[in-house]
Amino acid sequence: MTAQRRELTHETTEGPVFSIVAPVYNEEETIAHFYQRVVDVMESLGESFEIVLINDGSRDGSNRVMAEIHERDPRVRVVEFSRNFGHQIAISAGLDYARGQCVIIIDSDLQDPPEVIPAMIERWRAGAEVVYAQRAKRVGETRFKLLTASIFYRLIARLTAVDIPRDTGDFRLLDRSVVDSLVAMREHHRFMRGLSAWVGFRQEAVLYDRRERFAGTTKYPFHKMLRFSVDAITSFSHVPLQLATTFGFVLAGISLLGILVAVILRIMHGAIVGQATTLILVLFMGGIQLIFLGVIGEYLGRIYDEVRARPLYIVRKVLEETK
Ligand code: UDP
Ligand code: MG
Repeated sequence: MTAQRRELTHETTEGPVFSIVAPVYNEEETIAHFYQRVVDVMESLGESFEIVLINDGSRDGSNRVMAEIHERDPRVRVVEFSRNFGHQIAISAGLDYARGQCVIIIDSDLQDPPEVIPAMIERWRAGAEVVYAQRAKRVGETRFKLLTASIFYRLIARLTAVDIPRDTGDFRLLDRSVVDSLVAMREHHRFMRGLSAWVGFRQEAVLYDRRERFAGTTKYPFHKMLRFSVDAITSFSHVPLQLATTFGFVLAGISLLGILVAVILRIMHGAIVGQATTLILVLFMGGIQLIFLGVIGEYLGRIYDEVRARPLYIVRKVLEETK
């Protein structure tokens, strides 16, 4: 049934069949190679496609390289942000601009090999609406990255009700129906792989080996990864807020026991443990309270961001063929 529907839309819509969406942030050495490899793969499929590059406020020569590519090949559209808005926002903008019947999100640093795309498309043709690429192996990444990534996926699985598949990045194919539902969601702290799991639809995995970066270094330093994780957790879970209640009950229980012990000690020995205990307890309670104030603050700040309802990103310029 899905195959038939796709046949039909193919005849009637104006856009290309496939959109490749790639966020670009200071990738001047890589971008031309990326373009070439994507084009080689896509041309071998023999159907129309476009490449939507989102320039997320690059400060190197990426912009010039992308403009050159666009000049040579009008299938490449370039959306230039007014500044760096972040990876997840860049992907979201790509979905806003993509016109294809299905959209493939891929990193521009060649860590996601474009050669996996045909396998994803095959699944799509067979009826899948979300095809995510799942990492079988990761080469060339630091132990620290692998460790933090594994902790992150475990934590997310524990804390959230949505089933976010493990070891998947943003490398995935989305059917037009999925893209439309994602585009309708304008929340500011966007964890795209969570959102694309949340929308449902028929999801399937394709396995691949994650490569090393072609050039340059990661644009995700530790503090950005931390932000990213907090965004992911707060977007999909209230557990951190509810933990305060659990802690409260546990501590109240312990303090009841403490009272009992104090009374017994008093009766038996006539003395109660001294000042140090009091000091430790006060500091401990103060610490816990501050932590939970911080947790509330995280959620409150996000509510504030949503209420202001600023646009997700600001575009300086779009390079595309005008019809
Ligand atoms: N990126 C972006 N904006 C940013 C950071 C990264 O558009 O603020 C792009 C970057 O060019 C790359 C992709 O997002 O194509 C993934 O970033 P990176 O490779 O640095 O992350 P990692 O693969 O190390 O997790
Ligand atoms: Mg990368």
